[in-house]
Amino acid sequence: MAAESVLTGKCALVTGAGRGIGRACALGLAQAGAAVAVAARSRGELEQLAAEIARLGVRALVCPCDVTDREQVERMAEATLAEFGKLDILVNNAGAAKSQAFLNHPDEIWHQMLAVNMTSAYYVTKALAPAMVKQGGGRIINIASTAAHVGARYVAAYTAAKHGVLGLTRALALELVGYGITVNAVCPGYVDTPLTQIAIDNIAKVTGRSPAEARKALETKSPQNRLIAPEEVAAAVVFLARDSSFGINGQAINIDGGAVQT
Ligand code: NDP
Repeated sequence: MAAESVLTGKCALVTGAGRGIGRACALGLAQAGAAVAVAARSRGELEQLAAEIARLGVRALVCPCDVTDREQVERMAEATLAEFGKLDILVNNAGAAKSQAFLNHPDEIWHQMLAVNMTSAYYVTKALAPAMVKQGGGRIINIASTAAHVGARYVAAYTAAKHGVLGLTRALALELVGYGITVNAVCPGYVDTPLTQIAIDNIAKVTGRSPAEARKALETKSPQNRLIAPEEVAAAVVFLARDSSFGINGQAINIDGGAVQT
């Protein structure tokens, strides 16, 4: 049985739900009582997650989908609406981070980072916002990053994409407000996920530091000297998804131990 019930009767879709932050968000929403559609490219991870969600006593739908492909996104949206008949909560979480010095920057990385981190949120929101408009309300929650606020070396494309996600969030917050829809962003600092583990391995390889030293280097970017847990991001997503959070619109909630103060 669902442990909490603030979202009982609600239906959600989480992209990039197979692992990391998306997985924690899908579980957090399900624990709060929502039925959840989970999307990513790796079907095996989604099926495992869907089984976990079903054990919580709510419906789960597996939607294998590459969110950079508009046709696949449209099929995912149709499948979700066919199963649930509506969509109350959309979490645009799918993303990836590649680092590269700008002066050696291949165009391919630029296009990949914008596609997976920013254009994907546009495609998915474009496909599903009409259902929210029709039903007279909804919650759109974009997982951006502290990179939506500040620049950093070697991540120009990722940073540009995340600034774009926050711009999209703010524009849609005003454009969709008349339909009872809120649009907000959650901006984490470094989170303990497979994506961050890849960054740690990469730092260790490039700098010759041990993986523990590389991890410490990321931890010290936070005034709390630690990585954020995926469940902390999920808790903010569940909070934004609640009916009682209707007044929160166009905001960027930083979960970074105080690293960025905008
Ligand atoms: P992970 O790499 O751990 O997980 C990413 C998820 O997104 C996977 O389920 C992956 O599944 C999915 N995904 C990646 N590309 C696509 C695609 N083209 N289509 C569909 N699904 C895709 O990442 P995190 O959990 O760390 O990050 C999640 C989000 O949070 C990202 O937007 C990231 O930018 C953001 N973020 C992360 C931070 C961190 O420190 N980890 C900090 C700030 C923001 P599959 O490969 O099977 O498709």
